[in-house]
Amino acid sequence: MVADEEKFGVGHVIRHVLTIVLAGLAVVIAALPLHSTHAWAVGTEVKPLLALGARVAGDRARSRIVIDFDRKPDFKLHYLARPNRIVIDLPSTAFGFNQEDLAPRGLFKDIRYGAMDVDSARLVLTMERPARMVIAEAQQDEKTSGYRLVLDAEMVTDQVFSQLVEEQGWGQATSVAVTRGDRVASTPDASSPGKFVIAVDAGHGGIDAGATGATSKAAEKDITLAFARAFADRLNREEGIEAFLVRDKDEFLSLSERVTIARQRQANMLISVHADTLRQSNIRGATVYTISDKASDRMAEELAARENLSDEVAGVSTPQEPAEVTDILLDLTRRETQAFSIAAANAVVKSFEGQVTLINNPHRYAGFQVLRAHDVPSILLELGFLSNKEDEALLLDAAWREKIADLLTQAVQRYRQPLQANGG
Ligand SMILES: [Zn+2]
Repeated sequence: MVADEEKFGVGHVIRHVLTIVLAGLAVVIAALPLHSTHAWAVGTEVKPLLALGARVAGDRARSRIVIDFDRKPDFKLHYLARPNRIVIDLPSTAFGFNQEDLAPRGLFKDIRYGAMDVDSARLVLTMERPARMVIAEAQQDEKTSGYRLVLDAEMVTDQVFSQLVEEQGWGQATSVAVTRGDRVASTPDASSPGKFVIAVDAGHGGIDAGATGATSKAAEKDITLAFARAFADRLNREEGIEAFLVRDKDEFLSLSERVTIARQRQANMLISVHADTLRQSNIRGATVYTISDKASDRMAEELAARENLSDEVAGVSTPQEPAEVTDILLDLTRRETQAFSIAAANAVVKSFEGQVTLINNPHRYAGFQVLRAHDVPSILLELGFLSNKEDEALLLDAAWREKIADLLTQAVQRYRQPLQANGG
C-alpha cells in the first residue's frame, strides 16, 4: 500500500510522457508528437498500447470517459481514499491525444495520466465526491480494428466508497468486478425480491422553488413534496409495491442526481410530480409527459425547457456534451424503456378519465431531462396549473391529494398487470 502510494508521488506521474521500450532500452521522451509514433521500430519487443483519442462527458452525478486504443487494453481498477480517486492501471501506453481532451469535468476534478515505468502506465481520476465505476470495459470498435475503453462513474455515498476501498485487495487485484448499471426495465429489485419499486420525485426543491401559486403564492416545490409524500404513503400500502421519495425534504437535487438516485435504488419506475404555471390562466387540468427528442406541441416544448432550467437556477448546469460521447450514451434498452413509459402514461390517463380534469390530449411528450434514464420507465406528471385558480385550490387541498394518490396507485397497478403476467 505504502509503496503504491509512493509511486503515486507527484514526481512520478508524468503527464504527457511516452515511455518507449526500444531494443530493450527504456527511452523517455517528453512530449513526443503523435505522428512520430510510427517509429516503433523493428526490434521493439513490446509495442506500447497507443491511446489515440479521449473524451469525457457527464455531470456531478454520472460521468463517462472514453479512450480509444489501437488494440485491446488490459486494465486494472482501484479505488483510493483521501482524496477520493479511481486509478486505472494500464500496460505501457503512448498517450497520443491532447490534454484538453481529458479536461476534468463532471465527477472528476482532476484527470492525470502518464507512464509509471517501462511496463506500465496509469490513469488517475480524482473526484469531486465519492463515485464508483458502474461500467469499465474495453469495447471493440466495429469500424476500426481498435478498442475503446469505456469508464462510467456514478456518485455513491461515503459509506459505499469506503467499502469499495476496503474490500479491494490492492496487491492482488488481477481484475475488479464491475457490475453493469444497466438493467432490463421490468427486472424486479434484487434487494427486495418481487417488489415493484417506484421512485416518487417531488419536482424542484431548495434554491429552485419552481412555479408560484397565482393567488396563494404557494411554492411548487412545497406542493410537489406534500403530494409526493401522500402518494408514496398510499403506494406503500399496496402489496408488492415499494415506493420511496427521491427527495424527502426541501433540498436541491440536480435533474441528473434524481435520475441517478432512481437507478441506484433500482426503481422499476420513476414518477416526477409537478404543478407549473402557464401564461394562459384559463388552461387547467392534469397532463402526463413522457420523454421524446421532438416535443408533441409548443406547450410541451416550452414546459420542458423551463423544467430543464432547474439545474441552471442552482448553477450546476453542465456545458453541451461532445456529440460523439452522447451518442455512445444512447443505449439499445432505451427503446424498450420508452415503450414502458408510454404504457405507464396511458395507464395514468385511463385512471384519471372521468375523475380528474385533464387538459386536451393529456399524454404529451418533450425532452425532459429528468425522464432520460435509459433503463427506468419514467413519466412526469403536471398535476394541474398553479396559474389557474381552480387548479391552485385543488393543489392545496389535502383531500384532493388523497384522491389523486388513489387514482395514480390504480394506474400503477394497471400498468403492472401485464408485466406480472409476463413474469416481470
Ligand atoms: Zn415544475
